[in-house]
Amino acid sequence: MIQYIKDILSGIKNLLLGMKITMINFIRKPITECYPENRGVKVYSPRFRGELIMPHNANNEHKCTGCGICQMNCPNGTITVKTKQVEIGEGKTKKVLDQYLYDLGSCTFCGLCTMGCPQKAIVWSNNFEHSVYRREKLVNQLNREGSKQEEKKPVTPPTVEKKVETPKTEETKDVNPNNQ
Ligand code: SF4
Ligand code: SF4
Repeated sequence: MIQYIKDILSGIKNLLLGMKITMINFIRKPITECYPENRGVKVYSPRFRGELIMPHNANNEHKCTGCGICQMNCPNGTITVKTKQVEIGEGKTKKVLDQYLYDLGSCTFCGLCTMGCPQKAIVWSNNFEHSVYRREKLVNQLNREGSKQEEKKPVTPPTVEKKVETPKTEETKDVNPNNQ
């Protein structure tokens, strides 16, 4: 009989302990993220890799030369770089980027493409909302319609200041005792 009463008291004690933890969590400020309600104010880590993008300047120019290094570096065949030849005058032609295709569906976000790009033409954006109904819609062209490669500014060679040597006067000439 005594053991029976002890068990009931122990059960009531554990019940109250559980209720105490429940009440503490009930009244304290929530620490969960209210997504998508907080979409506009959410802060992401700057290093977060959401998707690959190709930045363009105000003149609709990008930095990609179409060299294809990123395509060769990619272990998944995610990137397809298509180039074309354009005339640049005097009968000369130049290889330029035609289409830069990125298949987000097969990207593992390893970063080998961005790290290997000599022009820093592709970077990561924080956007992670990529839901689509068909996989084909995950293939995006990163260079905009009508865009072209940014003109490189000519590098001005640094000027070297010439040292002007002042001719030695009689007073400043070395005095060598052996010459006397
Ligand atoms: S993104 Fe960079 S590595 Fe890729 S083709 Fe363009 S310049 Fe070359
Ligand atoms: S992050 Fe990796 S998998 Fe994705 S495109 Fe770049 S190299 Fe390919």
